[in-house]
Amino acid sequence: MSIIDAFRLDGKVAVVTGANTGLGQGMSVALAQAGAKVVGVARRSCEDTKKLVEADGGEFAEVIADLSDMSAIDVIVNGALAAFGKVDILVNNAGLIKRNDAIDFTEDEWDSVIQVNQKMVFFLSQAFAKQYIKQGHGGKIININSMLSYQGGIRVPSYTASKSAGMGLTKAMCNEWACHNINVNAIAPGYMATNNTAQLRSDSDRSEAIIDRIPAGRWGTPDDMKGAVVFLASAASDYVNGFTLAVDGGWLAR
Ligand code: NAP
Repeated sequence: MSIIDAFRLDGKVAVVTGANTGLGQGMSVALAQAGAKVVGVARRSCEDTKKLVEADGGEFAEVIADLSDMSAIDVIVNGALAAFGKVDILVNNAGLIKRNDAIDFTEDEWDSVIQVNQKMVFFLSQAFAKQYIKQGHGGKIININSMLSYQGGIRVPSYTASKSAGMGLTKAMCNEWACHNINVNAIAPGYMATNNTAQLRSDSDRSEAIIDRIPAGRWGTPDDMKGAVVFLASAASDYVNGFTLAVDGGWLAR
């Protein structure tokens, strides 16, 4: 297989959580452009993403599920199998952030973030690993971590806890599942222009301070995720295990 062909995803089925918007939308389009059929998971319609994928000639199915409820796991696995008959790639992209001073942070702000960003990432990955082992051909799991997998952040303690756990979990799952030809890796986006950072970008002082610190001198975009997600979803990364790849315009290099 030529190295360019190793990046192709023809015949693969990719499931992307939080596919309706932001980075999940960008990664869904990228996976479809590389040849995968995409199952978008979201708590509301993925109509815009479906249109973008289909405009490029790709196939897209939607599964509506709220990841704050553990019953979503069966809905997602069964929905993906019903749509395309198998699964090969899981992108654990859905996530939320709650901003509040650590001194005032509430239990709900803690639990709601940990549930979706951490607990669901583990148990949905576990369900996919079981399915990959049953199918007998391995598979890919790609977690979406953060700069706050490395750093502490300000006013986002539950988010930092969940994304720091994401980097540890990526390694822990890799250690037990690599022997089944399951690659567990992650992408750590830097500061990206999506809903997640709308509040931060609307604060001109914070926004300017962030851009000043990014060597590339700009916020990232969903398009910036495309190369990394296709690489980690493809045979080109078959011997890459347990690694978190930063897509951050150089933020971590400072
Ligand atoms: P976003 O536009 O806010 O997207 C987050 C996605 O997660 C949305 O699709 C959202 O659905 C979904 N989601 C949240 N809670 C959910 C739930 N209970 N059930 C189902 N779906 C749920 O932000 P984004 O930047 O694209 O974020 C994508 C991932 O990248 C997240 O894990 C985020 O932490 C991570 N990340 C983002 C940045 C950044 O700078 N933007 C940096 C590092 C990491 P709704 O649209 O319905 O809310």
